[in-house]
Amino acid sequence: MKASELNLREALHFEPEHGRITFGSHRMVLVETELMGSIVDAMIEVGDTIMAKALLYRCGDTAGHRLARVFRDEFQPENQQEWLALGPTMHSWEGVGKPSLTTFEHDPTQAHFLLEVQFANSYLAEQYIASQGVATEPVCWLLSGYIGGYCAEVFGLDLVCRELSCKAQGEPYCTFVVKPRTAWLT
Ligand SMILES: [Zn+2]
Repeated sequence: MKASELNLREALHFEPEHGRITFGSHRMVLVETELMGSIVDAMIEVGDTIMAKALLYRCGDTAGHRLARVFRDEFQPENQQEWLALGPTMHSWEGVGKPSLTTFEHDPTQAHFLLEVQFANSYLAEQYIASQGVATEPVCWLLSGYIGGYCAEVFGLDLVCRELSCKAQGEPYCTFVVKPRTAWLT
């Protein structure tokens, strides 16, 4: 299928009689954004910002890999581009925010990969501002991990995502860049 055909109104099945929501063979839950914000706050308070950043990136990266496989199996995208597009399409439906792909370069012969996303309305940025105030650095660590992990699974590459600017810093949107791990080191 094409990513544009994804419709969570039809793909989600609500079973209040059993206390479940399902998405294909996968169980889902509705979680208020404030709960996710309080989890981030607790990580910062129990540890520190560096620990929270590392843990949330790792959780997002794992989820990105897993969900890319779920989307491939559930929706059988007709090509790699449609598989890639399912990630941001799903984020829009989930209410995470509104991603727009602004740059995509992939040349396997040169080991070149560059993907840039402008992400509007990140709920993580909104939650951070509400509890911690305006940020001095990008804070959508869970989203960074997710975007990097999703792209890495789709393209079979060792990719890392970094958020270069963030709505929590007062920017109009968050900007994420995905490159091979080695490219970030040069
Ligand atoms: Zn952000």
